[in-house]
Amino acid sequence: MKKRKVSARSVERLSIYRRALLHGLQEYGASVYSHEIAHSCQLTAAQVRRDLMAIGYSGNPNSGYNVKRLLASLAAFLDCHNSCAVAIVGMGYLGRAIAAHLTGRPSKIRLTAAFDVDLDKIGLTFSGVRCHSVRHMPEVLADKHIEIALITVPAEQAQHVAEQLVAAGVVGILNFAPVVLRLHERIYVENIDMIVSLEKVAFFARAGQRRKAR
Ligand code: NAD
Repeated sequence: MKKRKVSARSVERLSIYRRALLHGLQEYGASVYSHEIAHSCQLTAAQVRRDLMAIGYSGNPNSGYNVKRLLASLAAFLDCHNSCAVAIVGMGYLGRAIAAHLTGRPSKIRLTAAFDVDLDKIGLTFSGVRCHSVRHMPEVLADKHIEIALITVPAEQAQHVAEQLVAAGVVGILNFAPVVLRLHERIYVENIDMIVSLEKVAFFARAGQRRKAR
């Protein structure tokens, strides 16, 4: 399937639709309506149809989408061709928790390497993944064809680590450190910050509002 230009939010929603479909396979049977997907994702049916149209999914919303074909279309759009190798930098509490979460899941995304500066961690294996010294980052990333990395180092180290990753060929970063990374615009950076999300929850909960759309 030809990759069209879709927004980051659409890509996020498409991933959520896939998860909902996989969790609801028993419930849906062979076909599913946009309003059923919308209901399980707390979105509108119109939004679901727009997102699926944007990726060129040609199912018929009136007679329901064929679940198998829809899952195949979502996979063709979202997934790497083969598998996608990723690395984590910073094998502290968060890095180790994420490694345990990612390992052994049926996903095209494969945690393949870990890095740290701590001599007590270098050489160890966490959730089946070997932890290397950051000094060996360029050769390990090249050898394992890794172009995507997660950053779980202390905030003051994150920019430096990000620059090391980019110099070693990384083009996509999922940053958990609470800092804004300044990198070339060709590098795709996504930030995850639990505190920001919690503050948002607290704000909207206080205001008695419920978020309707993602
Ligand atoms: P931690 O201190 O347990 O782990 C940090 C790890 O990074 C250590 O193993 C350390 O040796 C390593 N490290 C330090 N400098 C490095 C460098 N230059 N290169 C490679 N490795 C290096 O900390 P933690 O609790 O795991 O938190 C890690 C980061 O994640 C922090 O920035 C923290 O603020 C952030 N965090 C974010 C969220 C979130 O929701 N996004 C939640 C918890 C923690």
